[in-house]
Amino acid sequence: MEEYLKNYIGGEFLPPDSGNYLENPNPATGKTYSYIPDSQASDIDKAVAAAKNAFPAWSKSGTQFRYEVLNRIADLIGENLEAFALAESMDSGKPVSLSRSVDIPRAQSNFRFFATAILHFSSESHNMEGQAINYTLRQPFGVVGCISPWNLPLYLFSWKIAPALAAGNCVVGKPSEITPMTAFLLSKVCKEAGLPDGVLNIVHGLGPSAGQALVEHPDVKAISFTGGTNTGRHLARTAAPMFKKLSLELGGKNPNLIFADCDFEKMMAETMRSSFANNGQICLCGSRVYIQRPIYDKFKEEFVARTKKLVVGNPLDAPTNQGAVVSKSHFEKILSYVALAKEEGGKVLAGGHAVQLSGENEGGYFIAPTIIEGLPETCRTNQEEIFGPVVTIQPFDTEEEAIVLANSTEYGLASTVWTSDLNRAHRVAEQIQAGIVWINCWMLRDLRTPFGGVKNSGVGREGGLEALRFFTEPKNVCVKFH
Ligand code: NAD
Repeated sequence: MEEYLKNYIGGEFLPPDSGNYLENPNPATGKTYSYIPDSQASDIDKAVAAAKNAFPAWSKSGTQFRYEVLNRIADLIGENLEAFALAESMDSGKPVSLSRSVDIPRAQSNFRFFATAILHFSSESHNMEGQAINYTLRQPFGVVGCISPWNLPLYLFSWKIAPALAAGNCVVGKPSEITPMTAFLLSKVCKEAGLPDGVLNIVHGLGPSAGQALVEHPDVKAISFTGGTNTGRHLARTAAPMFKKLSLELGGKNPNLIFADCDFEKMMAETMRSSFANNGQICLCGSRVYIQRPIYDKFKEEFVARTKKLVVGNPLDAPTNQGAVVSKSHFEKILSYVALAKEEGGKVLAGGHAVQLSGENEGGYFIAPTIIEGLPETCRTNQEEIFGPVVTIQPFDTEEEAIVLANSTEYGLASTVWTSDLNRAHRVAEQIQAGIVWINCWMLRDLRTPFGGVKNSGVGREGGLEALRFFTEPKNVCVKFH
């Protein structure tokens, strides 16, 4: 039966004021399987009012209470792992094996991590010898907005909500309209976990209407946003004159630098993952792969052979490596970039086309994992974010050249370096313009570390204490000695 999702406002499950709904298709079938509220400014107004109302009690509830509630939410996500994993897969087209092993466990960890982190959060004091002492209070803002994208839906939504709530804020969250289902399931879990009404409100709808209204609302003091660079730019323009605190996690075009002295087998296994995990629709995926010339041919042969063996299929089937890409428009965008790459002189070594499945997946949006070579770093294919199962490969000779190539785009989110030379590893890491450098690994995440990008990949850092600092306002109190 087709389901109509509800907004979660003030602890109630409400239809949108307008009564209008948006279709929510399953990208693996192309068929609409649920409907989501097409919320407008009036729904956001209600959610902000509910959050404002809940704030005094929540912010004074004490860290132990907040720890217990957030921990219960983590427990319930774990108890409902299968339902969450299936919903994530149906919404996004990713293999259910991936949402079961990565997305949902990580969303659970996000709540667990920040539930406990708040118990350890402390602030500074500054002593003025013999005169006075200053101490810093870290106080929650009140109402904050959390806006998330479709690629890691619950994983990234919870990455914002959990620290915001732990720090004592009340939240209005706007999940991506393309993947709303797990956020809806989360609202049910929050109710069951005993999260007080109004502390978290989840409003579904489109970016330019519901999202924009949230950013514009005068009672929303801080916005944590993850999404595209252009949306981030627009958001910054809207929020800056209102002096809102902003965290912007934006697009990327991440380089992999593979030196000839690396552990070839480990590098190859991880490069497969960093190229094609979740169809390349992870902001951390490497999309420009640079290989030192002595191993270029060996790399190319093995990489192409392994890529051609990846199984593109129904996300619910166990052998599937590559599910559907997230939507029809994204499918068309990715294929248009493959066409552009060919126009720019690129040679397609693997994939480069849509995959037509049969049966219930006949109308789904499947693309063969694609490798392209022969393109200069200045071309659009190597400069613009494709965010699909498409990587380019290119040889380099020297370390200096590799660094120039790595830094040759407007982005600076993540990067990967493969080498057995310890000195080189550190030297290169220092010179790469990126918020994250992985050496001899990829997407190995410690939730305490700062997470975010430089250049057009964003402003601010998430993760660990950085997130708790973002979601609190420091206040200095100076006490003079008599
Ligand atoms: P998007 O920018 O289109 O949308 C992101 C969110 O913003 C959605 O919830 C959308 O509804 C909302 N939105 C759109 N317009 C808005 C507006 N005017 N006001 C307020 N909200 C608005 O991004 P997407 O296509 O959902 O996600 C893919 C992008 O996200 C890629 O560029 C990817 O690199 C990026 N991303 C970055 C990170 C990171 O940590 N840096 C992580 C994941 C994804």
